[in-house]
Amino acid sequence: MPFSVRRMRPRLVSDDLSALPDLLDEVLVGAGTTVWSWDAVEDRLGGINCSVAMLGYAPDEVPWTQAGWDTLIHPDDRAAAEAAFERHRRGEAERYECEYRARGADGQWRWLLERGQVATWQSPGVARRVVGTLTDIGPRKRAEHQAQALRDRLSQLAVHVPGMLYQYVEDALGNGRFVYASEGAQALFGLSPAQLVADPAALTRLIARDELARLAVTLRRSAQGLTPWRETFRVFPPGAAGPRWVLVEATPRRDPDGLGGHELTWHGYVQDVTERRALDLARAEAAAAAAASRAKTEFLSRVSHELRTPLNAVMGFAQLLEHDPREPLSEGQRRRVRLIHDAGEHLLRMIGDLLDLTRIESGHLTMEPQRVPLAMLARDCADMLAPAVDEARLALALPALDSPLTARADPGRLKQVLLNLLSNAIKYNRPGGQVEVTLSEAGGEVVLAVRDTGIGIRPEHLPRLFEPFNRLGQRSGRIPGTGIGLALTRMLVEGMDGRIAVDSVPEQGSCFRVHLPNGAAAGAGDAAAPVQVPNLPT
Ligand code: ADP
Repeated sequence: MPFSVRRMRPRLVSDDLSALPDLLDEVLVGAGTTVWSWDAVEDRLGGINCSVAMLGYAPDEVPWTQAGWDTLIHPDDRAAAEAAFERHRRGEAERYECEYRARGADGQWRWLLERGQVATWQSPGVARRVVGTLTDIGPRKRAEHQAQALRDRLSQLAVHVPGMLYQYVEDALGNGRFVYASEGAQALFGLSPAQLVADPAALTRLIARDELARLAVTLRRSAQGLTPWRETFRVFPPGAAGPRWVLVEATPRRDPDGLGGHELTWHGYVQDVTERRALDLARAEAAAAAAASRAKTEFLSRVSHELRTPLNAVMGFAQLLEHDPREPLSEGQRRRVRLIHDAGEHLLRMIGDLLDLTRIESGHLTMEPQRVPLAMLARDCADMLAPAVDEARLALALPALDSPLTARADPGRLKQVLLNLLSNAIKYNRPGGQVEVTLSEAGGEVVLAVRDTGIGIRPEHLPRLFEPFNRLGQRSGRIPGTGIGLALTRMLVEGMDGRIAVDSVPEQGSCFRVHLPNGAAAGAGDAAAPVQVPNLPT
C-alpha cells in the first residue's frame, strides 16, 4: 500500500538506534539535538523519548507514529515541512531540512530544526528507513527575532531622519561596499538602499568629477588615521534641477573580518546642505557688506571731521582779510576773497551733510520732537535763501504767516529738510521760474509741499532719487551738488516718523511733499508752546 506524502515523513525509531551508546544520546541532547529514525514501511518512530522530552512530554504521552507526531506540528508549518521531505524523496536534494514549530507539553510553541535523509530505499522513490536529527532552535529564533526587531526599529528611525544613515565597509584589499543604507538614499541620490548596497559605484557616478580626487585622498587619510571623515561636495542626482551640496560625516572602525584579517567600517550620515550653504553664503556676504558699510561710514565720518578744522581756518582767515581795516582790500580782491568764503561755506555744508549721513547710518543721530509752526519755519528758510532766489531770478511764494499748522518734529532737522528741498527747487529751476511752499492737513498728518517750475525729473530716475551720491545724470551738468541732500532729507523725515513723496513732470517741474505727524494731534506735546526754530548746527 503506497504511503501518503504526509505519512512518509520520518520519525525516530529507538530500536534502530539501540546500538548507539547512551553517551552519544546524552551528548546530543546536551547540545539541544536528538537523533531519530523512522520505519516508513511499518510507520514506526523510534528514539523519540529524547525528542518528546525536549518538548516536555513523557515518552508515553506521544504516539510513536508519524501521524501522531504531525499533530504536534503547527498547522501553518506542516505543508512546508512535508514539501522539504518530498523534494528529497524525489531525488531533488541529497537530504532535507525544515524548521517548524511544535507544541510543547506546557502548550507553548517551540521552534525545531529537522534534518533527515532516507537511509534505505524500499524501491526507487519509496523510502524504507529514514534517519535524522531534531534540534531545538528556540534560542536562535529568539535572537533572530530580536535582531529583526532591532533592524525594524532602526529602519523606522532612519525613515524619519532627514538624510541617509549608512555603513560602508572596506576589506583588507581596499574594496569598498555599502552594507547598510537607510531610505534617505532615495531622496538624496535618487537611489534605493538596495541599489547602493548592490553597487557602490552608483553613488560615485553621481559625484562631481572634480571632487573625486580630493574625496579619495581624505577618505584614505581617515582610514589610515582612523579619524572622522567630514566632507562637503556636489552630487548630480538624476532629475534634480542642478547640483546638490551634501555633507557627509563618518567615523571609521577597525573590525575583525572573520577570516583572520581586518576590515574598516565607516558609520556615517549624509545630509543635503544645499539650502543651508546658500543661506550661510548669503549671511557671510551680508556680514561682509555690513562690515564694508561700517568701514565706509567710519571713514566718511573721520574724513569729514578732519576736513572741517582746516576749512574753518580757511574761512576765518578769508573773513579776516575781507574785514581787516589796517589792510583794506581793493574791490577786485574783496570779490575774490568773498568767493573763497562762499566756496568754503558750501564745502562746510557738504561736510555737515556727510557727517549727518554717517551719524544716521551709525545710529548716532538723535531727534527731539516738538511742535514746530510750519509757516514760520518756511519764512525762516526763505530768508536764508533769499540771495539765491534773487540771483536765480525766481518768484518764491510762502504760506500765510498766520497759518496755525504745526508738525511734531525736531525743529533743527525739519529746517534742514526744508532748506534742502528749497535749495533744489532753486537750483533745478529756470530763470523766471517759480517756487512755492504750501501747507495742508490730511488725517493726523500735516503736509509741507515744495513745488517748482524747473527742469523736472525723468520717470526712470524717480526710483533712484533718494540714493546717496546719485545725481541722476547731473554729475556732468553745470549745477553744483553732491547727491547727498535728498538721501539725507528722506532719512531725517523718516527719523521724525514722517515720509516723503514726489511728483515730477520733465521740463515742467517737481513737487516734493513731506508728510509729518500733526503737531495739533493728541499726544503730540500740545501742552508745550510751539518752539522757535533754531539755526542749523554747522
Ligand atoms: P544734489 O542736488 O546735490 O545733486 P540731491 O540729493 O539733493 O543732490 O538730489 C539728487 C538729484 O535729484 C539731483 O542731482 C537732481 O538730479 C535731482 N533733483 C533733486 N531735486 C530736484 C528738483 N527739484 N528738480 C529736478 N531735479 C531734482
